[in-house]
Amino acid sequence: MNKSDLRTKFQDILERKNIDIPLVGTATTAGILDLMDISGTNRPEADRDPVKMAKLASSLHTVAKFEVIRYPFDVTVLGEALGCKIDPGTKARTPSIISHPFENKPEELQIPGNLLERGRIPVVLEASRLLRNEMGINVPLVAGLEGPADLASYLCGISSFLMWTVQKPELIKEIIDKCIDACIICANAYLRSGADAVVMADALSSPDMMGPDAFRQFIKPGLMRFTSNVDGYSILHICGETDSIIPDMLECGFNAISIEESVKDLEYVVELAHKNNTAVIGNISTSRTLYNKDENDVRKEAFGCLDAKVDILAPGCGLAPETPLRNLLAMVESRNEYYRLKY
Ligand SMILES: [Zn+2]
Repeated sequence: MNKSDLRTKFQDILERKNIDIPLVGTATTAGILDLMDISGTNRPEADRDPVKMAKLASSLHTVAKFEVIRYPFDVTVLGEALGCKIDPGTKARTPSIISHPFENKPEELQIPGNLLERGRIPVVLEASRLLRNEMGINVPLVAGLEGPADLASYLCGISSFLMWTVQKPELIKEIIDKCIDACIICANAYLRSGADAVVMADALSSPDMMGPDAFRQFIKPGLMRFTSNVDGYSILHICGETDSIIPDMLECGFNAISIEESVKDLEYVVELAHKNNTAVIGNISTSRTLYNKDENDVRKEAFGCLDAKVDILAPGCGLAPETPLRNLLAMVESRNEYYRLKY
């Protein structure tokens, strides 16, 4: 596929027009060891140094041949910027949240005026700028941030957060509101710095974690406010078996949804999404297939996604660091082969 066309094609996909062949790429985290070795950029440095972050992200295109690339490689940047301590991880272990600064004083949560200068947000902004203006790769860039439920659980602790959805609904609404404010500020800055789209990943919004009713009551209104205030393309990723909230996810106003292989009927989800003018990104299993199976299994699953008419063939969720590069290359090859055979 012509390189200079990739960004136009990505925009067409998100606007649901002139779509012929799906792109291959990722809207979920994809910092794998093979790419760190080849690009010579290891984490945790690639999580903290903009040049290294941009280099590892660009290797998703130059080495793994992905046509849509995603950075950063973890989902704790906003939490860290709002005061959570993180364990920076190691080459094979992603950063994780280790403190919940507002667990005992949730009413004190405020979004600081200098949010964009805090933690690693400046690193992501500079990486965007480098990828867009200086690396010469000209591929669609997707900048990721954590969604409101994940962010709230980082700040207040997951058990307090889930308990308050039952016991203190007013407090939860206030916390989610503030988290959405932070997400809007961060997303717009990522877009201004050169990202083609932002992806909000919210694992805790999954029906596997929070009931669909709680999602509709607390999260959905915030997501709707997010998309109305974001000045560019936005994508929503929710993990797990999302069937029961797919119609709600589609009503939130994102240009695309990114979903896991656990959805029961992909074809139906794609049909519903397209009726709603929303693109679908997914959903080869990261844990079952990409992590520990071979190219033939990837091909089989990729063909299933393409039969269901996904718009961007992608991993269903964040890739395990040990995922072999050959399985990512097999995704692109599978798409090419599918269209050679079919048309
Ligand atoms: Zn996921």
